[in-house]
Amino acid sequence: MNQNEQTTRFDVVIIGGGPAGLSAAIYASRDGLSTLLVEKGLIGGMINEADKVDNYPGFSQGISGIELTAKMYEQAQKYGLNNVNAEVLSVVVAQPLGFTIKTSEKEYQTKAVIIAGGSDKVRLGVQGEKEFIGRGVSYCATCDAPFFRAKTVAVIGGGNSAVFEAIHLSKFAKKVYLIHRRDQLRATHIVQEQAKAEYKIEFTLNSVVEEIQGADVLEKIIIKNVIDGQFSELNLDGLFISVGIKPNTSYLSELLELDNDGMIVVDDYMQTSVAGIFACGDIRHNSIRQTIAAAGDGAVAAVNAKKWVERVY
Ligand code: NAP
Repeated sequence: MNQNEQTTRFDVVIIGGGPAGLSAAIYASRDGLSTLLVEKGLIGGMINEADKVDNYPGFSQGISGIELTAKMYEQAQKYGLNNVNAEVLSVVVAQPLGFTIKTSEKEYQTKAVIIAGGSDKVRLGVQGEKEFIGRGVSYCATCDAPFFRAKTVAVIGGGNSAVFEAIHLSKFAKKVYLIHRRDQLRATHIVQEQAKAEYKIEFTLNSVVEEIQGADVLEKIIIKNVIDGQFSELNLDGLFISVGIKPNTSYLSELLELDNDGMIVVDDYMQTSVAGIFACGDIRHNSIRQTIAAAGDGAVAAVNAKKWVERVY
């Protein structure tokens, strides 16, 4: 990791190192702004979980999420990006101008901020979930599917992610249950058709998980049918929870305008409700949550952050 220990003043600080943050980093650094990228986890974020990204322009054979991240990171570093592994605790408007970024490591002063913090996986919130994480319960089929070769697994959720996870798991497991709380999936038609064509996938609709049980590792789940109220047990080796994502904006709620889902409200320039703070990628209101869109947002945010810095300073 390229960590600049000396400087704590930057033209722009980017929060989050996924495709939106890395794209913003490439644009800002290449445009001559002194740029710091702060990432609390792994550079790349959720895209690292994608086995293969098939719809990112320029890679006609597809590319793995990890490889795409590596290419973006290398490109940003080429233009002199600084980055630090830390968690941002708060963003404070400084007087008379600029912002203070308080992190778990240090404080940084910056002229502009680009928030590209993405989102986290939503938890189901049922008994046993927390207890069996890493012992049968997972939130990432791409990461953990190989552990369930010839085993029986279930995926919870009816969105695109859940159905993709079920399809991916069917390459490893002997049986995949897709359990969804309604009678219709939210996933797009074409994705549903792919899952229906896979003989190992069985749909369990109108059903919710009531409890996750086991001794040392996950052994079974208790399912409730929401139509007739009947309970049943399902023996499982693995349970993949894929019930959506929530934005990492809790530390920003006092500062920025957020929508009802906690996403950051931005204008066409990726400008938030506070001048000089931009937001891009999955964390912003109305994002289509696609890698290419996140990368595009990052470019828009960086170009406008540069204009802001030139205009105000
Ligand atoms: P999502 O589309 O919001 O779907 C979440 C699913 O979880 C829904 O089916 C929802 O049920 C269910 N759910 C939510 N809370 C639940 C609970 N407490 N108990 C049981 N089920 C619950 O989220 P996602 O699938 O993670 O996708 C996020 C975004 O990324 C979406 O915009 C999606 O289209 C996009 N995406 C795109 C691709 C692609 O390649 N095109 C791939 C993956 C994701 P209800 O339907 O009843 O609300």
